[in-house]
Amino acid sequence: MQKGTIQVQTENIFPIIKKFLYSDHDIFLRELISNAVDASQKLKTLSSIGEAKGEVGDLLIEVKLDEENKTITISDRGIGMSAAEVEKYLNQVAFSGAEEFVKKYKGQNENAIIGKFGLGFYSAFMVSDKVEVFTKSFKEDAPAVRWECDGSPEYMLEETNKTDRGTDIVLHINEESAEFLDPERIRGILLRFCRFLPVPIYFRHKNEEADAPPINNTQPAWKKKPSELTAEDYQNFYKELYQYNEPPLFWIHLNVDYPFNLTGILYFPKIKQSYEIQKDKIQLYSNQVFVTDEVKDIVPEFLMLLHGVIDSPDIPLNVSRSYLQGDPNVKKINNHITKKVADKLEELFNKERKEFEGKWDNLGLFVKYGMMTDDKFMERGNKFHLFEVAGSAEGEKKFYTLDELRMATETLQKNKDGKLVILYTTDIVQQDAYIRGAEAKGYIVVKLDTIIDPSFVNQMETKWNDVTFNRVDADIADNLIDKQENLDSVLSKDDEATLKGLFDIKMTGLSMTVEVKGLSTEAPPVVATRPEFMRRMKDMASMSGPMGSFYANMPD
Ligand code: ADP
Ligand code: MG
Repeated sequence: MQKGTIQVQTENIFPIIKKFLYSDHDIFLRELISNAVDASQKLKTLSSIGEAKGEVGDLLIEVKLDEENKTITISDRGIGMSAAEVEKYLNQVAFSGAEEFVKKYKGQNENAIIGKFGLGFYSAFMVSDKVEVFTKSFKEDAPAVRWECDGSPEYMLEETNKTDRGTDIVLHINEESAEFLDPERIRGILLRFCRFLPVPIYFRHKNEEADAPPINNTQPAWKKKPSELTAEDYQNFYKELYQYNEPPLFWIHLNVDYPFNLTGILYFPKIKQSYEIQKDKIQLYSNQVFVTDEVKDIVPEFLMLLHGVIDSPDIPLNVSRSYLQGDPNVKKINNHITKKVADKLEELFNKERKEFEGKWDNLGLFVKYGMMTDDKFMERGNKFHLFEVAGSAEGEKKFYTLDELRMATETLQKNKDGKLVILYTTDIVQQDAYIRGAEAKGYIVVKLDTIIDPSFVNQMETKWNDVTFNRVDADIADNLIDKQENLDSVLSKDDEATLKGLFDIKMTGLSMTVEVKGLSTEAPPVVATRPEFMRRMKDMASMSGPMGSFYANMPD
């Protein structure tokens, strides 16, 4: 047997790292700015525990684009690096100074540090022929140094005369990456990845006004305490995220620190029709750094309709910061979000039922979709899912929960198996006669006429095992125990026989067709609902002759 160590040739591995580590070249800016943020946060931490002397001053980050010289410079006023630190952190690929710092200063706001893999810095070489680093450590006796590297494993390190604390990273943009010399391209990347980073970032280029504000909001709403925020603050943040005019229906502020770290705000947008649904409107952040807006797996499928922000340093990200599926933390976060959404809906329902009902048009879609796709959510949803009564007018709409519907219809809407028969309409105009017929019998007809309802009816019929659905215009005689049919006849046996001899009565659903026997007429048979039929019988009683007196003797 033989054991050994595999030899890695830096000359060969370096181009591979450069080329394949990140598929998306835009992220070089995110990585370098993340490092600048880390350097600033580290300085704050060290200053707060007395390890860094002197003024911290204004911590800010500048991104300077120089189109003529084809450079992009990222400058910070963070901790900087001594010559020894440059050797340690920049010359050792995959050695993360961020990780080292987090271990050393555990308990000192270490969650604020973004870095993790010790590879982000090298993304600079994806877009550069040459990278220069000018840096001066916060330690007063450390001279400033300049590091230079062209992307080969050889580098150059020398003293330089930088006087301010902090680091300038100068990227000499290569031929293939000329697109990054376009200010709008850079601004786009900054807005995408850095919009909510905690240190102000200024973008400078020749057409930019010198006193332009920072491109980022360093204190996004989700990082604040819910008690510090008004409804207006939440609405404004929604606008800031999406530039929508329509305010959200309501929102949920997520704030967990155990067993995982998660903050965020989820908004319920106003949606009435499925074609209005926009997925991928939830943005995932890790320590305020934008990661992705594909949150599949982190957010349950049915909640992808929500909008907003989720921020968690505990979502396991790989080097390219896409997250790893199937991770137990991700599963927990997913469950937590589902629970929070159900909590919020239940709270609204319990505390502000009228308001909840008023929003049902928009909420129904989420709730139904959730109940269909997530059994845990269905259990919760059973309490606040609403049926809208078909006949109720705008402004005085009437709603029932499943349990309320059960109580209101009591024994009337049951079939022979004891199941609740939910009578529903898919079209209140076309099925109007049937609805009124059913209502006249004391039945409650509910409206299930949205795009999701056919599948909802299908699914719930199997999930709610003591419920069956019956469209109001379908034959319901089979399904319902017809209480009125079971009433003892008020007619004498003789009268009944006479009546039966005179009419042909055919039941179809709630309508009956009545033909007077022996009357050869071209006129169509009378189609009437039962109450209507009784009324007509009365009218006929006023006719003269033997028939009239027969009707007149009919019981009420
Ligand atoms: P990570 O951020 O995951 O640790 P990087 O490859 O992005 O890995 O950076 C390597 C290390 O280089 C950092 O951890 C840090 O110690 C150092 N470094 C990079 N950029 C800066 C900077 N702007 N200021 C101070 N130190 C820096
Ligand atoms: Mg980094």
